[in-house]
Amino acid sequence: MFCRLDIRRFCGLLSLLLVLLITTGAWAQANELVLHFIDVGQGDSILIQTPAGASILIDAGDTRAGTQTVVPYLRKMGIKSLDMVVLTHPHFDHVGGLIPVLEEYPVDQVLADGQIHTTQAYEDLLGLIYEKGISFKLARAGDELDIPGLDKVVVLNPQEPFLPGLNNNSVVLELHHGTIAVLLAGDIEAAAEERILAEGYLSEAQILKAAHHGSKTSSTRVFLRKVKPAIGVVSVGAGNRYGLPDKKVIETMNKAGIEVLRTDLLGTIIVVSDGSSYRVVDQEELLSGKPQSKERDTSVSSTKLVNVNTAAHEQLMQLPGIGDVLARRIIEAREAAAFQKPEDLLRVAGIGPKRLEKLVSLITF
Ligand SMILES: [Zn+2]
Repeated sequence: MFCRLDIRRFCGLLSLLLVLLITTGAWAQANELVLHFIDVGQGDSILIQTPAGASILIDAGDTRAGTQTVVPYLRKMGIKSLDMVVLTHPHFDHVGGLIPVLEEYPVDQVLADGQIHTTQAYEDLLGLIYEKGISFKLARAGDELDIPGLDKVVVLNPQEPFLPGLNNNSVVLELHHGTIAVLLAGDIEAAAEERILAEGYLSEAQILKAAHHGSKTSSTRVFLRKVKPAIGVVSVGAGNRYGLPDKKVIETMNKAGIEVLRTDLLGTIIVVSDGSSYRVVDQEELLSGKPQSKERDTSVSSTKLVNVNTAAHEQLMQLPGIGDVLARRIIEAREAAAFQKPEDLLRVAGIGPKRLEKLVSLITF
C-alpha cells in the first residue's frame, strides 16, 4: 500500500519535472548564461537568458526579421515574457523588429540610447512602448544594471554630449558572469571606441559582439587589443548590399587570434557559459535538454577539431600541410561560400585529394 503510494508520488514528481523541463525550454544548466546571436539577416538581435531565469532581448532586426525570425525564435525557446528590451540605437536593422516583439510579449522595461530620430517606424515603436505603459530608461556610460543572475552589467556607451552619428551613440553593454565577460558593442564606430577606451571602464572580454556588423568604421586594432576577445561574433546578412563584413576587419581579427563566428555563414550562434568557461552549442543540443556533462566538454576539447569555417589563420596553420598561403586561401574561399563537407576544401587551389585525406579527421564545419 505504502509502496504504491510512493510510486504514484514519485511518478507525479517525475512528470512535474518533465513539464518543467519542457516549459522552460530545457536550456543548459541552472547556473549557465545563454547568449543567442539570432540570425536576422542584415541587422542585430541578441537574446540573453541569465542563470536566474531573466530574459533580455537586445534589438530585433528589421520589421520582417522581427515577425518572421525573432518572434518565432523566442517562442521556440519557450520565452513567456521579457525582463528587459534594449534599443541600441534607432536604425531600422536594429529596432524595426521590436514592434512585433512588443505586440506579442509582456516587457518589464525598455533600456534605450535616447537619441532623437523621426522615422515613422521609430515613432510607432516609441508610441507602442508608451501605450503599453512599459518603464523606459536611458542607458548612460558608467551606469550599472541590476540583472538577476549576472554578477555585473556595465553600460559603456552612450555618453552625453552625444558623438556625431546615430551609430556612435549605440548602447554598449558589458556583462559579467563569474570570470567570463561579454562585450556587446552595438553599432559603435571608431570615435565611440576611442571614448570608451579613454573612460577606462572597459574590461577584457572573452566574447565580443563585434561592432557595426564587422564594418571598417569600427573594431580598431587598439580597441580589439584592449578587449582581447577569444570569440568575435559578427551579426551580418548573407550577400548584404554594404559588402559587410569588411575583409580587413576579419583579417585583423584573424591575425589577433580571434575566432570569428559570422551569422551569415553559421546562422544563429549560441554561446553558453557556466561562469568559468564557455562553449558554442547548436540549437538542437540546447533544446534537447541533455545535461552538458563535463565529460562531454572534455571529449570535445581533447579532439581539438578545427572548424574550417571559423578558425583563425593561426589555427588553420596548425593543420598538417597548411601553411600561411593555404590558410589565407581557405579563409578567402569560405568567405565566398561556407564549407559544408570535406570535399568542399578541394575548391581551394593547392588542396588536392591527398592533402585532404590528411585533414579529414581533424576538421569540422
Ligand atoms: Zn546596424
